[in-house]
Amino acid sequence: MIQCSCHNGPMPLEPRLREILGEVRDAGGRVVALTGAGISAESGIPTFRGRDGFWVVGSRNYMPQEMATHAMFLMEPEEVWRWYLHRFGVVRHAAPNAGHEALVRLERALGERFTLVTQNIDGLHRRAGASDERTHCIHGDAAWVRCAHDCGVGLLPHPAHLAARDGRAPLSPAEREELTCPRCRGWLRPHVLWFDECYDEENYRFDSTLRAAREADLLLVVGTSGATNLPVRVGQLCFTGGAALVDVNPEENPFSELAERSRRGFFARGSATARLPEIVEALVGERALS
Ligand SMILES: [Zn+2]
Repeated sequence: MIQCSCHNGPMPLEPRLREILGEVRDAGGRVVALTGAGISAESGIPTFRGRDGFWVVGSRNYMPQEMATHAMFLMEPEEVWRWYLHRFGVVRHAAPNAGHEALVRLERALGERFTLVTQNIDGLHRRAGASDERTHCIHGDAAWVRCAHDCGVGLLPHPAHLAARDGRAPLSPAEREELTCPRCRGWLRPHVLWFDECYDEENYRFDSTLRAAREADLLLVVGTSGATNLPVRVGQLCFTGGAALVDVNPEENPFSELAERSRRGFFARGSATARLPEIVEALVGERALS
């Protein structure tokens, strides 16, 4: 069998990229990794922005941008829950990949000098070993639910067996009970940021994320094109603050353009699993890996 090194083996780093990463490593700099759907796509999780995300209510097809809204939840809470349970069922069968694992090695090597900012709600970073304290899930985390009426009950674990059910089946009375707030008896909701909602610190670590971006010496962007407001601001803060900027993505995108405009920027074209292991090795030093 012929092995194609461009798909199966690690890609050697370009000299300029190695130089940028070496400077950050030698200076003991702070690193912010910003990840998006691209890193999870390599674990088989579809983005749900395309056809996979359609949901039928009555005789109408709804787009994810319509389903994942507070307005839809107010009108059709049960439909929104069934759609999420269907999505979470897909997530449950996915496993972390070499990209997630490389970022865990980076966190363990850098400790407090590392912050992970992720747009992904799938929990794959955590399952790979990322710590909760240094991981900011800026779009929420499917592992948790909370009261839709903010009655103060806090975060509750997502009822595990509900993710194992067929999301398309109607909710049984027992399942509805499990999605009922134990404190105020209103609906529980997924702990995710909806399209018609705003970032905040309490649920989505908004201020902590901006602070990490301001203090960063390197922004490592992986598998996102910054379609939402906070990732874009993180990129801008790092750019104007003079941080090094490395974008890992198979496609050109706004972050790759920002990296190419940056004095210490580099567009590392390729997927997370192909590029991150080598990038992390350059950042932590080969000896630290043993
Ligand atoms: Zn409640």
